[in-house]
Amino acid sequence: MPASTSSSPAPLRRFLRAGRASDRVTSSSGAAGTDAGSGTAAARVVVVGSGFAGLRLLRRLESLLPASAAELTVVSPVDHLLYTSLIPQVCASSVEPRHLAVATRGALRRTVLRLGHAVAVDTRARTVTVHGSDGTVDELGWDRLVLAPGSVTRTFDIPGVREHAIGLKNLAEAVHLRDHVLRQFERADAATDEGRRRALCTFVIVGGGYTGTELAAQMTRFSRRAVANYPRVRAEDVRWVLVDHAPSLLHELAPALGRRAADVLADRGVELRLRTSVSEVTERTVRLGRAETPDQQETIATHTVIWCAGVSPSPLVARLGLPTTHGRLVVDDCFRVPEVEGLFALGDAAAVPDVTRSGAPAGQTAQHAVRQAVAAARNVAASLGYGAARPYRHRDLGFVVDLGGRDAVANPLGLTLHGLPAAVVTRAYHAYALNNGSNRVRVLTDWALDLVIPHQIVQLGFADGRPPTIDATEQTGIYLVTAPGQAGVEAGLGDPQAQPGRAVGGVGGR
Ligand SMILES: Cc1cc2nc3c(=O)[nH]c(=O)nc-3n(C[C@H](O)[C@H](O)[C@H](O)COP(=O)(O)OP(=O)(O)OC[C@H]3O[C@@H](n4cnc5c(N)ncnc54)[C@H](O)[C@@H]3O)c2cc1C
Repeated sequence: MPASTSSSPAPLRRFLRAGRASDRVTSSSGAAGTDAGSGTAAARVVVVGSGFAGLRLLRRLESLLPASAAELTVVSPVDHLLYTSLIPQVCASSVEPRHLAVATRGALRRTVLRLGHAVAVDTRARTVTVHGSDGTVDELGWDRLVLAPGSVTRTFDIPGVREHAIGLKNLAEAVHLRDHVLRQFERADAATDEGRRRALCTFVIVGGGYTGTELAAQMTRFSRRAVANYPRVRAEDVRWVLVDHAPSLLHELAPALGRRAADVLADRGVELRLRTSVSEVTERTVRLGRAETPDQQETIATHTVIWCAGVSPSPLVARLGLPTTHGRLVVDDCFRVPEVEGLFALGDAAAVPDVTRSGAPAGQTAQHAVRQAVAAARNVAASLGYGAARPYRHRDLGFVVDLGGRDAVANPLGLTLHGLPAAVVTRAYHAYALNNGSNRVRVLTDWALDLVIPHQIVQLGFADGRPPTIDATEQTGIYLVTAPGQAGVEAGLGDPQAQPGRAVGGVGGR
């Protein structure tokens, strides 16, 4: 596959493609030979998912495996890797949505892209069923299958969440949310009733992990700038509420960072409701309760509940009939699915043992996904006779949380940072981790422009009509299609709204 058809001058082209070049390595062994073709036929390597894990793995495989040794195919509903870490900044208009999408076709040279969802795997016949984006359903044969389909928003069994809450897993949800917030200000500007205006201007975020915390921090800045454009909406009408059942924010980081982030949010007027759970969401309200005082429920009038309360592995995992732990596919430390030769899995969907945590499943983070991808590529190549297999080893490099402006919290390599130093580290880290020169330049430019020119407070038309549900934007119903040619709901699966692999439990944050 051609890499890039840019007409930029050669030095610029080299810079823009820098991330890709750094991924190339020379294979350590030239041994051909696959169980597919006894050393002559190219092995069919199919990768499911083009996210952090899938795309990085393929880039490595293209370098490790000669073209004669493997035919590489990626199955994905989208033609890009989404750099999720900056999604809150898309909602807040600081970064353009397209700039977070790293093009699959630009990043890979010879991998064939099949646009669609893998919806079932036959481990005996060694096929994967693909529900194509054009509505076709067909099967691909494989000699090695690597599953990296990521995760979906975890919606729990709380009444109303799946119908009325807005998720934050993809660009469609992010762009919709930005439009939706502006639409609420538009309506509030026209509202004559004080209570209705307050409800329209009240935004409730559920989940105080890094996504919910960043979103609250970024959106308070955005909404403060936005309301200035609506003469009848007062700044004090706007209310952001952040809910989490944990006693502190950012519970995955050092407590000091959670406290610091809470201070920043409090300074920006965010109402924190910690040790608090959501018991119901409706079109116009959210009901909250605390474990200590179950009789005292609080009902907040709002038209906007944003659900950042964690993720569940892709529903594909539950369709495989293979062992799982917390819904994630069980694999060994070389990413192999036990008992199924040639099947590998990694990223959010797999329970990859983390040796630094006594073999507990690695966290569902991009940091793990990209490092697993490099290790998994080595192991897949080794299984085809190129190089030697090696178990996954990873040392936590820390976390960065961008709170907008000069505020951030971070703990790189064990150092605890906040304020401007953390903001510098955070942005430098994202620029580096984007790992694609073209996207990097675009995001850096967005940040620079954000410093010097006012935001464009415009709706793009995505908030017309009823907001899409989380299931609709994340396409979780697609897994109900299974056999080739069978475009309907598989018999016996019950409620088409049911989300396979959905976990039930308390509301956490991601
Ligand atoms: C808003 C947000 C912010 C985040 N911020 C951070 C952060 O700051 N730092 C951090 O480390 N992590 C962060 N994460 C977590 C991080 O995004 C995930 O851990 C990471 O994306 C996991 O990588 P993955 O490759 O397993 O999944 P993904 O990157 O999600 O990729 C999965 C891919 O598979 C595709 N796919 C899904 N189903 C199928 C199917 N059936 N068939 C084929 N393809 C399929 C998807 O479209 C996607 O392209 C954040 C996540 C979110 C949602």
